[in-house]
Formats: sequence, structure tokens, C-alpha cells
Amino acid sequence: MPYISQKSIQELNDRMDAVAIVSDYVKLDKKGGRFWACCPFHNEKTASFTVNPDLKSYYCFGCNKSGSIINFVMEMDTLTFPEAVELLAKKSSLELIYEKSEGHDSSLDNEKRKNRDELFELYHRISGTFQHILQNNAEAKDANDSLITRSISLEMINRFRLGFSPKDRSWIYNFLIKKGYSKEFLSSSGLFSANYKNISLFSGRLMFPISDRQGRTIAFGGRIIKDSPGSPKYINSPESEIYKKRDNLYGLDLALPEIKKTKTVYLAEGYMDVIALHQAGVENSVAPLGTAFTPDQAKVLKRWADKIIIFFDNDEAGQKAVLSAIQTVKPIGFSCYIVMPPNPAEEKNAKDPSDILQKFGPKALQNHSKSIIFDFEYLLLKAGILYKSGSNGQEYEGKVRALHFLFPYIDLLDSELTRNSCFEAAADSLGILPDAVLEEYRRYISGHKTETITRVKSNDSIQINDELSILLSVAVDYISNKREKIFPNFRKELEIAEIEDHNAKEIYIALEECVRYEEISMDDLLQRISTLELRRFFAEHSSTGEFSANLDKIVTDGIKKIKKKRLKKQQDEIIIKLRTAKKNEEDEPEIIIRELLSEKIRIDNELLKLDQGR
Ligand SMILES: [Zn+2]
Repeated sequence: MPYISQKSIQELNDRMDAVAIVSDYVKLDKKGGRFWACCPFHNEKTASFTVNPDLKSYYCFGCNKSGSIINFVMEMDTLTFPEAVELLAKKSSLELIYEKSEGHDSSLDNEKRKNRDELFELYHRISGTFQHILQNNAEAKDANDSLITRSISLEMINRFRLGFSPKDRSWIYNFLIKKGYSKEFLSSSGLFSANYKNISLFSGRLMFPISDRQGRTIAFGGRIIKDSPGSPKYINSPESEIYKKRDNLYGLDLALPEIKKTKTVYLAEGYMDVIALHQAGVENSVAPLGTAFTPDQAKVLKRWADKIIIFFDNDEAGQKAVLSAIQTVKPIGFSCYIVMPPNPAEEKNAKDPSDILQKFGPKALQNHSKSIIFDFEYLLLKAGILYKSGSNGQEYEGKVRALHFLFPYIDLLDSELTRNSCFEAAADSLGILPDAVLEEYRRYISGHKTETITRVKSNDSIQINDELSILLSVAVDYISNKREKIFPNFRKELEIAEIEDHNAKEIYIALEECVRYEEISMDDLLQRISTLELRRFFAEHSSTGEFSANLDKIVTDGIKKIKKKRLKKQQDEIIIKLRTAKKNEEDEPEIIIRELLSEKIRIDNELLKLDQGR
């Protein structure tokens, strides 16, 4: 097997620009003759990673990691030594010389490298084929129409190399066999069904190639053209030798130049959103790969950016994802901003960047992406909403709830100064004395600590009620693979806003998210439940089988019960209002009474309908 000659490696070392190479991965600042950056190998907020351009080496004063620039590239891109040398030689336009090996057996490395190279080549070819089909074949008409409807420009279709996978599910397989690929290689490629080797995972879908940082296609996302209840909206390639979700983000290769220039990154939810933002000139936009945004992905972005701007969907699940993204990026040291949800007066039906592009054009999207607020301001707004909903005659309780919503975020801040300014802002916005905020915080901290200690035996603090038990049943059903059955009907019958119990709400949202990301396992669902206590509670109760028997009846009866309870509550409120209206003979009591009475009749009727089984 040939290997790269020592002479070539020496020449590469002489020729390469260490600072330029490392700058592709982290942002370097020159201070006192040295180049500094925040270390990519450990978590830190002040730079202790240095590059020595003369020695072509790096060293971190924080974690003591050190090595040559070639080692650095091997680590960052998970490459073997020859792969890293080849990559760097390409960047320095150096022609490598190979020699025949004697004795030294590098066949294992070579085998691995060969397999990776073949995979890269395969994905490159397929991506080109999909692209060609989208632009030339009649069967891609609907896909093209859907792009036109979404106002995606031809320039973006080319830039993101969008494509179309043929409807015939064995077409790709036959095409590749004809090109001389072996059956074994194809079955390990991640393009075909595990059970039926010749059936493509993707058929009749709009294809989004997923690229690594060098722009090589490493996987695909495929979107259905017309939404239909039976098929998932998106399908993504499984992980492979060349594709690891946690190390990649959609659009990163195209966004990198702008991210490096601005040290700022926009995080959107979906592939279409990223494309829409690029089209609007916001070229530093990326998205997670069909799953929730992870700390690993945040660390990847932190290599080049200081500032992250979150631009997620304007619905409840999207807004909840914002909260979790804030919690993900804060400990890594990002300064974090949120794009304000679309203005109801101007863009009321636009729920995400792709929607804004479609309905209002690229200029509007670009303008909208500039209306950002600091993460804590956003949290204060959210807390304000929470406070209002709790303010029904219990003003103090509402304020405390709002504070407890804010405390976990304040906890993530490591500067005393920032923390104090957050306390002040919270006091100001909620109209509480700063001292009272601090006192509540101390109470929260101590309560919080004892809670973690006693948590092991604290399951009984979650009380089963109608709402929680019905959500548990629906969730158990969802996981036991009958997801098309109960949950879709359930969400039609009962909206999230109709549920009062916050644990039941949490499970509802987790389910919504699982549907959105096509997750069906117990692990996935558990991961989307944010409190340890509820996770534990759910895991315990779902394993006993108590919620899997007689499911249909539990669900229909449960929905009825919840609706009835809510109507009864409204009925009571109206009766109280009627009494007070009759007592205080203010201005036009008759009109008020008449309105209240007609509302009462409506509720009575609905209750009656429920009792008679509609
Ligand atoms: Zn380090």
C-alpha cells in the first residue's frame, strides 16, 4: 500500500499557514505575538488556546492539549493522519508524493479511508442525480411547483443543490448497480431500507443534501411534496461512517464565511427556513438536523461565533424550543438573542422564516430578522404572560410563578453582575421590590437544593388526575407504535390550551414535538420531558401497564371529563357574575345580565350534549 512520503509531509509543514488553517475552525485573536482562541477541546469563556505559527503547533493552557497543526485538523474533522495531510495539501495546493510501503502495514487505515472515499463519491453522485431529476424530469413537476409556491429562487435551488428522488422506489438501486456498485456496499450506504435492500429510503420526495464543513454531501433530508397523514413530513438519512448528526448542522458549509465575518449565527428550525433566510441575504443561518438542537452542535458553532440569534417557529412547540435552546447555549458562553415573533398586525399568518418569505418576500424577511431582543428580555416577556395568566385574583402567586420561571435562566449566568442586573430587570418588569426578588431567589435556591437531594423518593409529589392520566394513556399508546391511531384524534378533540395540569401539558408538548421530529421511542419522549421528576414518574407508570388497557374508552371518557370540568367551572363563574351584577346596580345591568344568561344557556347546552354522548 502506498503512503505519503516524508519529504511531502516536510514540505507541507514548511508551506502551510498555521494561523489561516486554525482560523477555519476557531476564531483567533492576536495578543502579544501569540494567537489566542477559546479552546475547541474544552469548555471555556476566556481564551487559553494558543497557536504558534513558527512551530506550526497549538497548545491549550486550560486543558494542556497540544500537538501539530496536522494533529489539530485530525481532531477537529475526525480524520486519519493521511486524510488530514491530504486535506491540508489541497488547501496549500501541494502535490503529494506517495511511496510504496515496506513491512509497515497500514491496510486497515487504507481500508477505512477507501470506504469513506467511496461513500463521499456515492453521495456526491446521487446528489447530482437528484438535482438533475428535479430540474429536468416531468415527475418532479409537483416538487418544482411547491418550490415556486414557497417563492424559493432558482439561485437557492442551485446553491443548496435541491433535488428530487424518483417515485419508483427501486430506481436508485438499479441505477447504481448498473454503474458498477456492489450490493454489499450499497446496503451499508444508508440509502436503502434495512429489510428490503433495493428499496430506497427516499422516493417522490424533495431532497435536501446535507453537507459537511467542506461542502461534501454526507446525508440527505427528504421532504414529502403533499402532506399526507400516513407518511412522515421529513425523512433523514441514518448516521453512517461519514455522517454524525451531532457534529453537523444544515447549511453550515454555506453559512461559514458569513459566520466567521460577523461572529454571529442565526439558528432556524427547518431546512426550508435556512434556505429562505439565505435568500433574504441572511447568509449566516443554519438549522439542527431534524432533531432538537444539542450542546454538541452549539459547541461546533461556538468555534466561530460569539452571538447566536434564535429564529424559531411562532407556535407553542417552537417557542418551547426557544427556551431549551437558550438553556443549551448559555452555559457555552454565547450571547443570545431571539427574533421577535411576527407582528400580528402585519404578518399574522406567518409562523416561520419560510412563511414570511412566501407571503411577504425576501426584503420583509431580512427586515424581520433584525428585530431581535436579548434573551432575558424575551424571558421577561414570557414571564409576563405567565404572570398574567396566574393573576386571576391571585396576583402574588402569579408573580412568584413568573420569578420561578426566570430563576433557572438566571442560575445559568456565571457573572454576579449580569445576575444582579437580571434581578433588577425582573423586579422592574413584575413590579416587585428588588429585595423581595432576592429573598424569593434564596428560597428557590434552598428549595431547589433540597429537592435534588430528596428527589429520589419524591414521586408522590406528582398527583394523578384526569388530565395527567389521559395524557399518560395517549403517550403510552404513541410509543407502542400505534401512533397513527390515538394521538392525532386526541389533539383534534382537545387543544393544549384546554389543559390545566402543568405535568399533563408538558407531556402533551413532548408528544407534539415527537410527532414533529418523527420520534417514536420511549427514550425520545423521555428526553423531551424537561423535569427529572416527571420523567421518572412517566417511566415508572408507563411500565406497569395500567395505562395500556382499554385505551379507547379511557381516552374518550377522559376527554369528556376534562371538557365537562371546564364547562362546569365556566358555569360557576357565570353564576357568581350574575349574582354580583344583580347586586351592584351599575350602568346598564340588564344588558350585562342578558349577555351572561345567554352565555350560561350556551354552556348548559354543551354540557347536556356531552352528557348525552353528543
Ligand atoms: Zn483546552
